[in-house]
Amino acid sequence: MGEEAVYPWILRGFVALAIVTFPVLFFVTAPYGRHGGASRLPSIDATLGWIVMESPSALGFFACFLLGDHRGDPARIALLLLWELHYVHRAFVFPFRRRGGSRTMPVPVAASAFVFTSVNSYLNGRWIFTFAPATAYGAAWLGDPRFLAGAALFLAGFALNQHADRVLFNLRKPGETGYKIPVGGFYRWVSCPNYLGEIVEWSGFALAAWSWPALAFAAWTIANLLPRAVSHHRWYREKFPDYPAERRALIPYLL
Ligand code: NDP
Repeated sequence: MGEEAVYPWILRGFVALAIVTFPVLFFVTAPYGRHGGASRLPSIDATLGWIVMESPSALGFFACFLLGDHRGDPARIALLLLWELHYVHRAFVFPFRRRGGSRTMPVPVAASAFVFTSVNSYLNGRWIFTFAPATAYGAAWLGDPRFLAGAALFLAGFALNQHADRVLFNLRKPGETGYKIPVGGFYRWVSCPNYLGEIVEWSGFALAAWSWPALAFAAWTIANLLPRAVSHHRWYREKFPDYPAERRALIPYLL
């Protein structure tokens, strides 16, 4: 069986796993960061863990571009630039901006995220740069309302995610490890604007790429981050008696 025949089955498996994982994550919170606790699992340095987890997205997607058939297509290049804007930062800059001393992360968390980002970048990269019909993108796609609205959403989500993460980093002075109540920007409304920004980003990318794998990735991002935002929010409320009562977990005024 050739790659083109196997590809849809990998995509179906990827979607099925998101559907199963979503409800489970309301009961089991991935054990890293504040939810890490005193895990007895083997662990690695968290900075290294983030590089291991996220670099397949940056490198794998770029490899698909290099191996693909449409390297001169401006719309595909635009999608590549959006993707890499996020992932070069996430894999190679974000890990070094985090503060909180020498934290560790369980090896199974880093390993499962490594598998996830590898499969995800393969599915999206192979579609955009190889399997999508030759007429799917092209210069005309850059003027299509779906691309324009999707790219605008992506950039808005990226800006929100960056701002929200920066607020969190600035809560700790170098060497500090504890948690404080974040304030300013979207924290006025929700506990996890970084997750909201990430969800907006990948929903925008799904619109801009107009493809099943990009939609599957957006669904996975929601399946992953919505339950984690609920856990973070609950944790804040339990830890800080003066936590702002009007603040929601992820969606202003709603959730
Ligand atoms: P968190 O919001 O849990 O933490 C982000 C950073 O800020 C960590 O370094 C954390 O420290 C620190 N921090 C968080 N809250 C506080 C606080 N109240 N006081 C002081 N420091 C704080 O995000 P994640 O670590 O889960 O995710 C990091 C980024 O990765 C986010 O931008 C997120 O959107 C993205 N992500 C994307 C996923 C996807 O499916 N696409 C999946 C997971 C993450 P510490 O590590 O010590 O808790």
